[in-house]
Amino acid sequence: MTTKIAITGAAGRMGRMLIEAVAASDDAELTAAIERPESSLIGADAGELAGLGKNGITIVGDISEVSDHFDTLIDFTAPSATLDNAYFCADHGKGIVIGTTGFNPEQLTELESLQAKLPMIKAANYSTGVNLSLKLLELAASVMGSDSDIEIVEAHHKHKVDAPSGTALVMGEAIADTLGRDLSKVAVYGREGQTGARDSETIGFATVRGGDVVGDHTVMFMAEGERLEITHKASSRMSFARGAVRAAAWLMGKNNGLYTMREVLGL
Ligand code: NAD
Repeated sequence: MTTKIAITGAAGRMGRMLIEAVAASDDAELTAAIERPESSLIGADAGELAGLGKNGITIVGDISEVSDHFDTLIDFTAPSATLDNAYFCADHGKGIVIGTTGFNPEQLTELESLQAKLPMIKAANYSTGVNLSLKLLELAASVMGSDSDIEIVEAHHKHKVDAPSGTALVMGEAIADTLGRDLSKVAVYGREGQTGARDSETIGFATVRGGDVVGDHTVMFMAEGERLEITHKASSRMSFARGAVRAAAWLMGKNNGLYTMREVLGL
């Protein structure tokens, strides 16, 4: 059975990719597309917007206009919009696939508290490679993490508004959990001036922003006499969009709860 999909942020960088990814999927069908009410693209055809030719799905400015049209919402927008949409989905018996990053701790707690009310998947990164790399990072951390200095370097395009990336944070959490450390206590976000010698318990983050970089992440495990680096480079947003559509199809018929992309991929 195909899943009926609505996309919020349909005109965004990810929104357009998602329209294309749904069109290419045998398991999903685009039945609604939503943008901010003030967007100049309200009334436009979603297929045309994504460069696919007309598909008959008109972009609307309010999710309540299409509440009868879809099973699962795919939301790559902004934290406050995603929270509102999650409440809407909980109230209307829909599932939600969340790609938005940059939630503050209060927003995250609020979002996660909704898991009893709807099936939801939240991932900072929907690509297969990044989710596989989380597994590799846990292995690396368990074998050489306690003897290494661990640093995470990420690079993204100049329009990205949050830092470090949600993916870098998830990588840091996977490593910290494996080592029995609390990321909120051991994370170091950038260095400047007289920093003193490095504390071996810390996990460092460095952020690079510029140009059109889709998303690069490198984790370094630096030990005496050797260094292991695990790198993922996304060259197209289609890797995220395909993963999110796969997640939406997987979510169909699932019980209420918060699922991960690693579960979708069987990792
Ligand atoms: P973008 O700015 O290009 O697109 C966001 C879109 O959301 C815009 O078109 C905006 O008008 C729309 N929007 C904002 N509020 C809205 C609302 N209330 N209702 C409807 N539409 C609304 O940004 P982007 O590069 O597409 O990224 C969007 C989010 O997805 C960011 O948080 C980014 O970090 C995240 N992201 C996640 C992944 C992943 O795999 N999880 C991958 C890429 C990007």
